[in-house]
Amino acid sequence: MPDTNPPPINLFDMKAQQALIRPEIDRRIAAILDSGAFINGPDVQELEAQLAAFSGAKHAVGVSSGTDALQIAMMAEGIGRGDAVFLPAFTYTATAEVPLVLGATPVFVDVEESSFNIDLADLKRRIALVKQEGRLRPRAVVGVDLFGRPADWPALQEICRAEGMFALDDAAQAFGAALHGKRLGQWADAAALSFYPTKTLGCYGDGGAILTHDGDRAELYRSLRTHGEKTRYEVARTGMNGRLDTIQAAVLLCKMTLLEQELKDRARIAGWYAERLEGHVVVPGEQDGATSAWGLYSVLLPDAATRERAQAAMKQRGVPSAIYYPKPLHHQPAYAGAHAEGLRQAPPLPVSEALCHRILALPMHPYLDEAQVARVCEALIAGL
Ligand SMILES: *Cc1c(COP(=O)(O)O)cnc(C)c1O
Repeated sequence: MPDTNPPPINLFDMKAQQALIRPEIDRRIAAILDSGAFINGPDVQELEAQLAAFSGAKHAVGVSSGTDALQIAMMAEGIGRGDAVFLPAFTYTATAEVPLVLGATPVFVDVEESSFNIDLADLKRRIALVKQEGRLRPRAVVGVDLFGRPADWPALQEICRAEGMFALDDAAQAFGAALHGKRLGQWADAAALSFYPTKTLGCYGDGGAILTHDGDRAELYRSLRTHGEKTRYEVARTGMNGRLDTIQAAVLLCKMTLLEQELKDRARIAGWYAERLEGHVVVPGEQDGATSAWGLYSVLLPDAATRERAQAAMKQRGVPSAIYYPKPLHHQPAYAGAHAEGLRQAPPLPVSEALCHRILALPMHPYLDEAQVARVCEALIAGL
């Protein structure tokens, strides 16, 4: 008899993973409850050492979220009023929100259709335009490794060096990704990680970290996450409350034991998708020297109407899908003003706008099996 009730397919799956490590999570959390070291407990330092070792960065500083990681990294550079911060128009809102919170101006840059990441030619053009308009100082580039795929860091670093700008890697979706055999965390001046539950390394709440090779920066990050204190109650600079909880660090330590294998599993699943979907939709292409962390698996459909049909067909067959992102940041009501302010003569952002109509994220987590991937692909193809 055919199996009429196949197991449900989830976009993300944190339960299968939890089942593997639940006893160890319970043991570690119980130890924290016994010790009472809820803030800056030993699990935080242990995790920071593991994050540094895993990524190859010299220093890792645990913080309260990926957004706060970006904010602390920018605060440490003194980024604020009069500064232009270049970032892709096609990314999560947090990337743009942070410069605005600090009084700086985000300058939206278009992305490449092939990688979904920042377009280098467009970046150079907008840096030149900011200089020409002469109102803002080019200060930083935030490269985002969208969906887990590394941005072109050697080129971004070169542009930042030439212009004296800070190179910040928003690696929130990409912990574990690598370029030319070196993991993210070694490429930019600093890299921000998010441990939001659905990221490649996620906790059971909010959390984040900043990776850097620079010891002075790491020390500043530690100070800024604790109100800018130099020593207890001596406040050297304006900071924030941006610490990582001990309990979240404990959860992350348990999940670190699975991460290498999970990254391999994500890559295998991406391979299954590419095999079945090539020729039907545009699948993420290979990128020279890059290893994606496969935080998400997104394909491109010809247009919004086809995407709508595909999503309906998938839903009917019990297959979830999602749109990251339905709107480019320069069209968000909160950022339209900043967009107009950043460049008075801003060139259009056609690729970011088109991707928002065409992109579709399929289920991606390390616990999908090949039969489930086949079901996702059949449902998607049926809707085309
Ligand atoms: C998730 C995410 C963030 C923010 O991380 P939080 O931990 O949710 O604050 C920032 N940038 C990108 C690209 C993200 O995907």
